[in-house]
Amino acid sequence: MSTEESSGGRSQIVVLSGPSGSGKSTIVQRLLRESPVRLSMSISATTRPRREGEVDGRDYYFLTPGEFEERRKRGDFLECAEVHKTGYWYGTLRSELHRAATENCWALLEVDVEGALNVIRDYPDALTIFLETPSVEVYEQRLRARGTESEEVLQRRLQTARNELELADRYRYRVVNDDLDRAVEEICGIIAQTEAKLNAG
Ligand code: 5GP
Repeated sequence: MSTEESSGGRSQIVVLSGPSGSGKSTIVQRLLRESPVRLSMSISATTRPRREGEVDGRDYYFLTPGEFEERRKRGDFLECAEVHKTGYWYGTLRSELHRAATENCWALLEVDVEGALNVIRDYPDALTIFLETPSVEVYEQRLRARGTESEEVLQRRLQTARNELELADRYRYRVVNDDLDRAVEEICGIIAQTEAKLNAG
């Protein structure tokens, strides 16, 4: 996407995905503070019920299934998906990209793999980053050490992680979250490099 476009109402998009347990939310919080380019977090809409402590309009826009469907039909979403077969819908509102552009920021999207692939289809220039735990084996060790899941749930999670890893090749960058500071530094470097290329092109 050209710089003309970003100043003319569209913003550069950064997409971050990764399996649960990859440390996504901590990295997002750090990036919002430390990124070399100002980032604006895209607030997703969802039909899932609000969890304790969550605030409408800050964590998500909490919509009823009817409201969500109406907005989907109106074409308000850049992408939306029923995530992890939960029956709940999640989606990125186009208005969030406009908000980022008016704030002179790049939009940071934290979406699942399906959402990311849909974003790539419409915005092939999006900066896509897949966050990995060091390996599925390490992920398994972590889950077993935590001991909160039954064997069946654990196997399902591992299978999801393996499936997501297969799609990770479609992302522009893969970053291993072996060490939080190092991973944040690597992503900040990727963002700086992308900005330099945009300014040069
Ligand atoms: P949670 O319900 O725990 O907040 O989020 C569950 C999952 O929904 C996470 O894997 C997250 O990446 C995904 N998610 C959150 N917002 C969006 C969105 O706007 N679009 C898509 N496709 N997935 C999302």
